[in-house]
Amino acid sequence: MSFKASVLTLYPDMFPGHLGHALAGRALERGDWACEAVQIRDFAEDKHRSVDDTPSGGGAGMVLKPDVLARAIDSIADDGRPRLLMSPRGRPLTQTRVREIAAGEGVVIVCGRFEGVDQRVIDGRQLEEVSIGDYILSGGEPAALTLLDAVVRILPGVMGNQLSGVHESFEGGLLEHPHYTRPQVFEGQEIPAVLTSGNHAAIEAWRHQEALKLTRQRRPDLLEAGNSQPVTK
Ligand code: SAH
Repeated sequence: MSFKASVLTLYPDMFPGHLGHALAGRALERGDWACEAVQIRDFAEDKHRSVDDTPSGGGAGMVLKPDVLARAIDSIADDGRPRLLMSPRGRPLTQTRVREIAAGEGVVIVCGRFEGVDQRVIDGRQLEEVSIGDYILSGGEPAALTLLDAVVRILPGVMGNQLSGVHESFEGGLLEHPHYTRPQVFEGQEIPAVLTSGNHAAIEAWRHQEALKLTRQRRPDLLEAGNSQPVTK
């Protein structure tokens, strides 16, 4: 069964964007997932086809009109897929939420623009606000592509036989250990000896220690969240 992403946007040409390339692009061609971009402006009914208006109460910028956006959302059958709104006010996206979304049948994503979206659509259509980080983008499209990238790469079959995906940063609650490949010496620096020792238990233990060290240095919050696996071996 294929995963279906429906994206509501004022810039449908931005989709599938980079997800039309590489592994995600091949999976799209195979039909492992589908991406439908819906033009919000098609649901504007006035003669100028306007989609935004000035903020009630005054202030800078414009707000996406609730009636137009609600009609666009309602044009997509409510088939149980989660309905998200990309928003810097949302809950920060995590690999856990990405996995939940990937386990479902698809997702409906609203991309905001301007100052954002009329609150009554968020409430009335029960949109789940999702943020991709504490910074402000000019629109929800790159945020939606980021979320979809994270979801699509873990759909069954998309990464082929590559085992990556299981060991990565966050999957075990830790940042990933460093990687090396040949040549044995690069600019005077050697590959850590344990990695070429052939001792798989020692390699696993080293990788875990490095992951722990890196997480402690850079993201102690991940350890405090109680996510770290016990030290193995
Ligand atoms: N005035 C808003 C920002 C609007 S940015 C505020 O201060 O909260 C315009 C649109 O870009 C938003 O509606 C949202 O869809 C998208 N966007 C911006 N930053 C984002 C982020 N960090 N995560 C997800 N979406 C974001």
